[in-house]
Order: sequence, then C-alpha cells, then structure tokens
Amino acid sequence: MDGQGPLEPEAPTIPSQSSKNLWIKILANGIAGIISFFILVFLWRSCHYRTTQPKLVLLVVFDSLRADRLAAYGGKLGLTPNIDKIASSGLVFEHAVAPSSWTVPSMASIFLGLYPTRHGIVSATLNPATKTIQKSHFIPSEYVTLAEGMRQAGYATFGCETSGFINPQAGWDQGFDIFEFRPWAGGDWITKQISALADMIKNENRAFVFLHYTDPHYPYYFHPDSVAVRTSELPPELQSIGQIPFFELPKRKDLGPNTPGLKAFEMLYNGEIEFADREFGKVLDILKPDQFSLIAILADHGESFQEHGKLIHGETLFEEILSVPLILQLPKRIASKKYPQKFAQHVSLVDIYPTLMGAVNGVPPNPTDGANLLALVKRSYSSDRIIFSDLVLPDYEKIAAYSKNFKYQLTLPEKQKFLIDLSQDPSESANLAESQKSTAFSIDNAVQDHLSNPVVWNPVLKEAK
Ligand SMILES: [Zn+2]
Repeated sequence: MDGQGPLEPEAPTIPSQSSKNLWIKILANGIAGIISFFILVFLWRSCHYRTTQPKLVLLVVFDSLRADRLAAYGGKLGLTPNIDKIASSGLVFEHAVAPSSWTVPSMASIFLGLYPTRHGIVSATLNPATKTIQKSHFIPSEYVTLAEGMRQAGYATFGCETSGFINPQAGWDQGFDIFEFRPWAGGDWITKQISALADMIKNENRAFVFLHYTDPHYPYYFHPDSVAVRTSELPPELQSIGQIPFFELPKRKDLGPNTPGLKAFEMLYNGEIEFADREFGKVLDILKPDQFSLIAILADHGESFQEHGKLIHGETLFEEILSVPLILQLPKRIASKKYPQKFAQHVSLVDIYPTLMGAVNGVPPNPTDGANLLALVKRSYSSDRIIFSDLVLPDYEKIAAYSKNFKYQLTLPEKQKFLIDLSQDPSESANLAESQKSTAFSIDNAVQDHLSNPVVWNPVLKEAK
C-alpha cells in the first residue's frame, strides 16, 4: 500500500491540473466569445452599411445643357418635365460651376474629382469623317475613377455613352463592368440600351448607372414634334441651320445677334433638350428609381448664343457656359436628415465624385479638389471657398475663379484680368479689375496658387486606334 501512499497525496494534483485546464478553457472560450462578438458586430456593421447604401445610383449628364433651360433655374419653356419633377423634390444647387467649357476636361473632372489643370486631360480631336476620337489625352490607369470607386463600394457599374470624345479607346470605360458606346447617338439609343440591360441592373444588389445624353450638343437636329420648335417661326430653310459644319459657325452672318437664323438655332437646341428629357423619362419608367435610389443630374457645360460674341462652347468661361444644373434626388435614408431644397453657394462638378462616395459609404478620391456636398450643406458651408474653372487650349489659357459674389477671369499668356460682381452684373459686362484692385489682387493670388498645383499623373496624348 506504501506504493499507493504517494499516489494519494498526488491525487489532488489531478483535479488541480484539470482546474487549470478548465480555467484555460474558460479563458479561451471567453476570448473566442469576445472575438466572435466583435466579428458579429463587424458583420452587422458591414451589413448595416450595405443596407443603408442606395440600391441604385443614377448619374445623368446632359451635354451642353444650360441651367436656365430648366424650371428649377428660371426656365419658362417647359422643356424638361422629367428633370423638373426630380428637381421639385430634390436638392437643387443653384450655382453649380462647370470645371471647363467643353466635354473632355469637364467630364474628366466629374470622373476624377480634380480640376482640369490637375488632371491634365484637356485635349482631344475628332476624326471629321468618322466623328470618333482621333487623338486624345488618355486617362492614366493610376487614377481611381468614379466608376472604380463605385465598384469598390460594392456596385455593379453600367455606362451608356454617346459622346464621341468619351471613348473607351482613351480609357473612359475604366471601372465600368458594362460600357455601351455609340458616338453621337440620340437619347432613344440610350433608352434601348437601358431597356436591354434593365433585368441585369435590377438583379444586382447595388447598381451604378451612368448616362450621357448628347442631344443638346451641337449639331442640333430638327424635332418636329417638339413644342419648343415652333414651326411657324422655323421655315424649312432654317430647319437645318443647326447642322452647319463647326468650323463655318464663326463666319456665318446669318447667325449674328438678333437674326432669325440665331433664333432658329436656339429653338433647335431647345428642341434637342426636350427630346433628351423625353427619352430620360422613358429610362425612369424602365428603371423605376424608388426611395432607395440616388439620382444626380448635371451638365458638363452650357452653351453660347452670341451673349459674348460666340456660338456653342469651348472658347470662353462666361456664365452661359459655366452655369450648369446640378440636382440631387437623395434616397429617403439620407433625405430624412433634412437637407435644404435649394443651395445658393457656388459649388463645382469636381464635388460630384466625393459627394457620391459619401452617399454610398465609399472611399473618397485621393487626391481631390472636390468636397462632399452633403456634408458641406449640412454644416452650412464655408463661403470662403473659391471655385475654379480652367480652359487650356493650344494658344491660350483661361482661368475663372468664383469668390463670394465676385467672378474673376485671367487670360494667359496676355495676363488679361476681368473682375465681375455677379450680384450686380449677371451679364458680365463691366470689368471692375481696375476699380476694385484689392479684390482682383486677392483672387489673383488664389488663381496663382491654383495654377501652381501640379498635374497628378501626366496623361499621354495618343492617337486612338
Ligand atoms: Zn460637352
């Protein structure tokens, strides 16, 4: 039994060991429980974020659409009932500024959240025969585009593009799962594409749909069923005046100020807007955006009708070119935070990318010149922000800067300075650069800072294949 003796006192060591194991077990279970709890919280938060994301994000660009053609911006012609309906329940930015005066630099600013002098995508030419891109600055692949940002946020990405400039060959399809492209097709083509893609879009948990209408972009075609085109004022010989070759426009005396030709020209433009809005209405009928959808409507730039001696766009930075519509219809979850219906401060289309990323809990562009407008509107915005617009052409460069009620324009290389008080002089006729030197000087300093910002990634000018 002696042999067993030592076993007896040792016996307690067995429960002691098992108690230690038990404690280790309890501790391990506790740690596992805590880890599981955090995993569950993480999953719940991810699901919560996902479920609070808008199911459909619809970004619609109407090329060359002046703000003053819409009821929300004082338009009296009733051209756009479908856009007006969205504006009546949405958030209207009354003073949105286009980043440039023509399609390529402005669209790059929308897709990248940078001003043209920072993204550098400022040049493209079309082949006159095919009207497709011949030579262009390609979008560097290093950029994370808006579509890529949406994809990273969990969205399937769809694009319907009708501008010959916004060509996949120059990298504009970067980030799109599906990018339908037909240069200069009418809005009815977009309706057909959306009709064909509708099931796929609706079956996605989250879908980002980008549409680019170019009906209001020159040339303007005759829409006899448009109420804007009053046939009594548009005799047959003027029905094709909207299709004069681009390079002939400056020489045409019959398109001078106050001529019947110019009146017809503008009427045809209005008819194209009406047509695009009608087709957009059909897309809304197909996609049926609801309280979980976000819709952003804007124009890449406006259009001139001799207000400052020019037609169409691409040469100046006056208000008829830079004042564009920007309307957001917010999903109920975001709208319930009580945003104002109208917002009067100057904002820029470089703000679109960060704003949409904010609305989908995505990653904002980095770097960016833009701001999340929903955050800015909520904290009543800093009126000190200066908004810029750039026009970079082979022979000259123009920069516009908006600071409170002032608009400053600098033309290079001549260094011409033009200062306007927009609150007193909306038609931009009286240059105050001499009489208000200190204001001009202070905004000019901001312009110099703006110009000193380097291009983020140098785009390469290439021949398209
Ligand atoms: Zn355009």
